[in-house]
Amino acid sequence: MSDLKYNIELTAPDISAYRAGNTGVEYVTTFTAKEAGPHVAVMGLTHGNEICGAIAIDTLFRADIRPRRGKLTLGFNNVAAYREFDPRYPIASRYIDEDFNRLWSPATLDGPRRSAELERARAVRPIVDAADYLLDLHSMQYATAPLMLAGVLDKSRALAKQIGIPELIMCDAGHAAGPRMRDYGGFGDPASPKTALLIEAGQHWETRAAEVATDVTLRFLIALGAVTADDVAALGGPDFAATPRQRVIEVTEAVTISGSRFEFVEPYVGLEVIAEKGSLIGHDDGDDVRTPYDNCVLIMPSRRLVKGQTAVRLGRYVD
Ligand SMILES: [Zn+2]
Repeated sequence: MSDLKYNIELTAPDISAYRAGNTGVEYVTTFTAKEAGPHVAVMGLTHGNEICGAIAIDTLFRADIRPRRGKLTLGFNNVAAYREFDPRYPIASRYIDEDFNRLWSPATLDGPRRSAELERARAVRPIVDAADYLLDLHSMQYATAPLMLAGVLDKSRALAKQIGIPELIMCDAGHAAGPRMRDYGGFGDPASPKTALLIEAGQHWETRAAEVATDVTLRFLIALGAVTADDVAALGGPDFAATPRQRVIEVTEAVTISGSRFEFVEPYVGLEVIAEKGSLIGHDDGDDVRTPYDNCVLIMPSRRLVKGQTAVRLGRYVD
């Protein structure tokens, strides 16, 4: 993994001023409006090296953004991993012990296992339980187009369309390794009005990722009536007023690594469309991995090719 040279354009902001917060949970702050309304939460640093989320949230704090109704929560999840961020080894600080975003089932959260991330997830859980709407800010290993991850439920896809950016909405069920925060509790229940989205804003350390993370966050808050466009226009970047034709990719399966050695046959970066069904894309312990249908889209191929983890997700354009 260390063979690739990354260009680190972004600077990880100092978030120590947000440690105390006001919720009893470190690095989580909730602002409450006089007028009743939904509780809207924006969380960053679910992965410690995805610093665009810290930048977007820091931007809201610095601008003293407050909700016009309901509640606005701003939080940083894996601060312990973020503290380890070193621009010389930028991929090293995704997490301390395990992926924070694979722990979000009651069985795991209530279970006996312990890790730095589980401890943090247990601390943040009441905040996630209390939120009506959640936006989780992420970035990706490769510099491809931003992706809104809307899960499999219509309510999240509808909110992604209401927000209006980015162009690509991906609908997927997550990872075999464990549920994500965005799929937890009511967010993953079609009968609940609670709605969550996850934005993959771009490559981890490109300037563009921070712009996208910020614009998506502002438009999320506007869509939910937490702020008006006028309130936050001064913070907006290149996509603040963009109106792309949005397209939806439905993920049909995740390729989960079953062997001890997984290799792709090409240096895929994501969003490649493989025209022919049955095309060879990789080997898992020598077994062929082939595309299951024509015009198969490769989504977020991983460079962390470890047994039990997702190598790549496969999908197709449906809209
Ligand atoms: Zn992430």
